[in-house]
Amino acid sequence: MTKKIAILPGDGIGPEIIKSATDVLKFINTKHNLGFELEYSDIGGAGYDACKKPLPEATLKLCQDADSVLLGAVGGYQYDNLPRDMRPERGLLAIRRELDLFSNLRPAILYPQLASASSLKDEIVAGLDIMIVRELTGGIYFGEPRGIKTDENNKKIGFNTLVYNEDEIKRIAKSAFEIANKRDKKLCSVDKANVLEVSELWREVVIDVAKDYPQVELSHMYVDNASMQLVKDPKQFDVILTGNMFGDILSDTAAQLTGSIGMLPSASLDKNNKGMYEPIHGSAPDIAGKNIANPLATILSVSMMLKYSFNLPEQAAEIENAVGKVLDKNLRTADITDKNCSVVSTSQMGDAILES
Ligand code: NAD
Repeated sequence: MTKKIAILPGDGIGPEIIKSATDVLKFINTKHNLGFELEYSDIGGAGYDACKKPLPEATLKLCQDADSVLLGAVGGYQYDNLPRDMRPERGLLAIRRELDLFSNLRPAILYPQLASASSLKDEIVAGLDIMIVRELTGGIYFGEPRGIKTDENNKKIGFNTLVYNEDEIKRIAKSAFEIANKRDKKLCSVDKANVLEVSELWREVVIDVAKDYPQVELSHMYVDNASMQLVKDPKQFDVILTGNMFGDILSDTAAQLTGSIGMLPSASLDKNNKGMYEPIHGSAPDIAGKNIANPLATILSVSMMLKYSFNLPEQAAEIENAVGKVLDKNLRTADITDKNCSVVSTSQMGDAILES
């Protein structure tokens, strides 16, 4: 049966890394006769250039009809002075919201070949493999009321609202338990229950959901301690479950443990595991158009797509193994190069993956 995949290259290095990633996707599609059909559309600055909107209607329709979405990145200096709701990043927030992609999976994996890229000591990070499950469509980034107003003393006040209802917590908790169940069966829920009522409810609901997953070991940690533990002893974690803002911050810390932003994929899933897959990095306007960006995060996003949206773990593993083999051959893009390694371009890295 045919499956439609929406491809959104976006801005900056987006088109370059998407070219390499779709070459890999097409290769796997043909090799295993998977019936994938790729259809392209604009988002972000490219959407604004084409239709004066960061999320054009045609793009939204394509993504709603598609079985899965692969995105490059959005953003660029030339869009910085546009009205806020026309900026490229708004297109990204809008597509996540429109597709109800509430479950954001951000793995932080350190390939042994890249251990020296981390700023932490080898023994602390070698073999690191953490999955952060971040709630993506609720919490303080979306809560109302929000704004900046002037009070009766003519002082400006900025305010946002941190709010979660029990259904929102339940569905992200279930998502995290399901993932923990397929990994090392350890789940750490991160909150701030010593201070925030929202976190008290978060903890209560997570404990309730845990009853359906007796095989998964559940622990709780306050977010300040979690940020410390992530750099002190990151390998104690298997799956981390957390809310939108805490997850935003902790997942960047976890990414940095691996030392290489160009290596990390992500998935954002809805309740049926339909997902949008993208590298965690941005559009890197400083290196756009030079054919030097690292395409591996986007290629690994394809691997996550095969695993989570299409339940094709073996084909996903083929891609992961190919990445390992290329690193074993000491081929590196400029961002991850090291002594004794050969620097290759974006397209050469893509070709090397295809040959592996
Ligand atoms: P960035 O991730 O684009 O770049 C940070 C640094 O990492 C830059 O030096 C860049 O050259 C480098 N880098 C990033 N990806 C790389 C890759 N694949 N290979 C090699 N080097 C890579 O973050 P930024 O500079 O803060 O933001 C640039 C633009 O991207 C902004 O407009 C921002 O809003 C946008 N952005 C988009 C997303 C997204 O699309 N999901 C995420 C973050 C930032």
